[in-house]
Amino acid sequence: MEKLPTDTLDLAQSHRLPPLLTGLLSCSHDAVAIADADFRICQVNRPFTELTGYSSDETTGHDIDLIRPMFQDDEVSLTEVRQIIHSLGQWSGQVQIANKKGDRQLLALNAVAVPDDSCRFIFAFSRPPAPSVVEPYWLAHIDPLTDLPNRILLLDRLQQAIAQAKRSGLLVGVILIDLDNFKAINNYHGYPFGDRLLHKIAQRLSLSSRADDTVARPATIAYERSWDTVARVGGDEFVVLMTELPNMDTLENVTNRILNLAALPCEIDGQQISITASLGVTVYPFDAVNSATLLRHADQAMYQAKELGRNRYHLFDAEHDQRAHTRRQLLEQLRLALAHDQLTLHYQPKVNLRNGRIIGVEALLRWNHPERGLVMPGEFLPHIEDDELIVEIGKWATRRALDQIMHWQAEGLELGVSVNIAARQLLRDDFVDCASRALADYPDLPTGALEFEILESSAIINTAHVHDVIKRCEALGIRFSLDDFGTGYASLTYLKEIPAEILKIDQSFIRDILDNSDDLALVEGIIGLASAFRRVVVAEGVETAEQGVLLMRLGCDLAQGYGIARPMAAELIPAWVAAFRPDPQWALWADCRWEMADFPLLVAQYDHLKWVHRIAMSLEGASLQLTEAELTDDHQCRFGNWYYGQGMVRYGHMQEFQALETIHQAVHRLGPEIVRLHQTNQMAEAHRLMHDLLAMKDRILNKLGRLQTAVIKKH
Ligand code: C2E
Ligand code: MG
Ligand code: MG
Repeated sequence: MEKLPTDTLDLAQSHRLPPLLTGLLSCSHDAVAIADADFRICQVNRPFTELTGYSSDETTGHDIDLIRPMFQDDEVSLTEVRQIIHSLGQWSGQVQIANKKGDRQLLALNAVAVPDDSCRFIFAFSRPPAPSVVEPYWLAHIDPLTDLPNRILLLDRLQQAIAQAKRSGLLVGVILIDLDNFKAINNYHGYPFGDRLLHKIAQRLSLSSRADDTVARPATIAYERSWDTVARVGGDEFVVLMTELPNMDTLENVTNRILNLAALPCEIDGQQISITASLGVTVYPFDAVNSATLLRHADQAMYQAKELGRNRYHLFDAEHDQRAHTRRQLLEQLRLALAHDQLTLHYQPKVNLRNGRIIGVEALLRWNHPERGLVMPGEFLPHIEDDELIVEIGKWATRRALDQIMHWQAEGLELGVSVNIAARQLLRDDFVDCASRALADYPDLPTGALEFEILESSAIINTAHVHDVIKRCEALGIRFSLDDFGTGYASLTYLKEIPAEILKIDQSFIRDILDNSDDLALVEGIIGLASAFRRVVVAEGVETAEQGVLLMRLGCDLAQGYGIARPMAAELIPAWVAAFRPDPQWALWADCRWEMADFPLLVAQYDHLKWVHRIAMSLEGASLQLTEAELTDDHQCRFGNWYYGQGMVRYGHMQEFQALETIHQAVHRLGPEIVRLHQTNQMAEAHRLMHDLLAMKDRILNKLGRLQTAVIKKH
């Protein structure tokens, strides 16, 4: 045996390649590199070092990227070739590589996976085949049973078709054909029979192709169009490739023809046999991916055609796939986030407006994303509602909340925590068992300190189950609230059947109660309903003191919202609790049962604040949200409407009321002046006058406060 070159031997020993490989390497005339599973070069032969100018030492351990391969056209990248080699076990085609000096040359590359457990790959570079040696190259690309191109050649043609479509702007259709129930035919009639059937089908498909039709037909004559390539890509799988398609109608024509062709009876060995096919179709550039992925997508679509009942075609939905892909990625990232402690809970206080006591906090999920910062649950939870992960997150949140209750308790802070529970978790058979196991780890937990917030919509999916869950959890000392109440369309019957102790009025109703009488009526109705069913109500999304006052008047004393506190990290809660002072407005109005007829007095204050706020915002660059009349006329703004209307009738005789007129008139002189200065770009002066306007606003609030006190005392 010929002595192996010494450099090859050294490397062979250090990387312990099987002797057969080492032998092949040394006697090959091609430039060969052997790479590991990560495409790092572990060995090269002498032709390789000569071709590239790198010594074997300079290549060992380096990524194959060292020689900067650029494939045939821009269509396929090194990463994609790697994927193809990984999944199909081989890739061949033309490639440009750079030698050590940076000079590029065009070569043919055959890359194959070593068929053993070593996960190695052989990259063999040779001069591109001259016309005379083309035949063996083609032979390696033809399916011997049907004489059709195989997957490798198909991928090659597909790449070319894509490159062409990029230039022409026309479409490329990929139709994957899978025979229905072919396995049963094979089993019943035997493999030789199956092979003949495959051969027949292949013949039919290729006879309909325009194989040697080199005369380009006008693209508009749709019905004449046939296909360019038919390939056999697996046992009973064929692919028809259509290039330069003008529109989708043409493609539909073709799919129908293929379905008909497949369904024509065949005669084999004197027996008539009928078979059908299922087709998966995808179209570039609607599905703008590389050739290997197009094939995979056509395959997915074919499976859907099978699921939909076979003997039909199904078009791959790229948008749907993209969404599914994004969702899978999100799920994966969230799984890691949970494992790596990137999820956290923030806590938002809930208070009793009447007595200013803090009644508990709601735990709200946050994702501490390493790049994106704090991500809100609305951005990710809706996408994972149907996945088991939401259950894992729910269990984690419950335990984290329990830890937090105990932690605060140890610091002398008694605070209950409510945890949001997704429908999927609530409806699981083991929900109560899991809750009970979690509680068992916290024997000192005060009764009622843990609350679950469930959505009305999830409770009505299975009322009987939820009823049972709530009752059993109550026995464990867990409280329940129906979250976002009013949005889930639950009927009164459901409310009767779901024994949650607390109803949380959805923030969408609270937001506009001061402006919108329908919302006011709705909230009044919900509070009435809650009291009829003897439930506690909590208002969500309370943003202003006036909303709080009104809610108390309507019979809802418990509230949560930015007007009280925003959700915050657990560490900030003790300081917030210590510093919390209820809004003086609440106390002022809380002690008496004022009449709803005095409600506009409360709204007038809110209206005035909003008017001043709008002028301030316009100085910051926002468009002015006031009409000319509202801005300039002290009778036409909402405050003025009230003052010279209902207000005058009800309080016109009171000195505290009269005191408001002059200053309100002054406000309407100042406001338009600020707007004028801003419009004429006299910013410094505009800001100076804004300062005066804010001072006037405080004086108006002060005077309104006096009027309110006088009015309330009256009752
Ligand atoms: P939710 O349970 O109704 O929680 C209240 C949401 O309203 C929170 O949004 C809170 O920050 C926000 N909010 C509170 N006060 C105000 C206010 O005055 N004005 C406005 N505009 N918004 C206010 P967040 O934290 O973004 O949570 C959104 C939703 O995500 C929650 O609505 C809840 O359904 C869900 N969620 C949050 N954490 C979890 C969790 O741990 N598990 C589950 N399954 N869902 C959660
Ligand atoms: Mg909630
Ligand atoms: Mg809510």
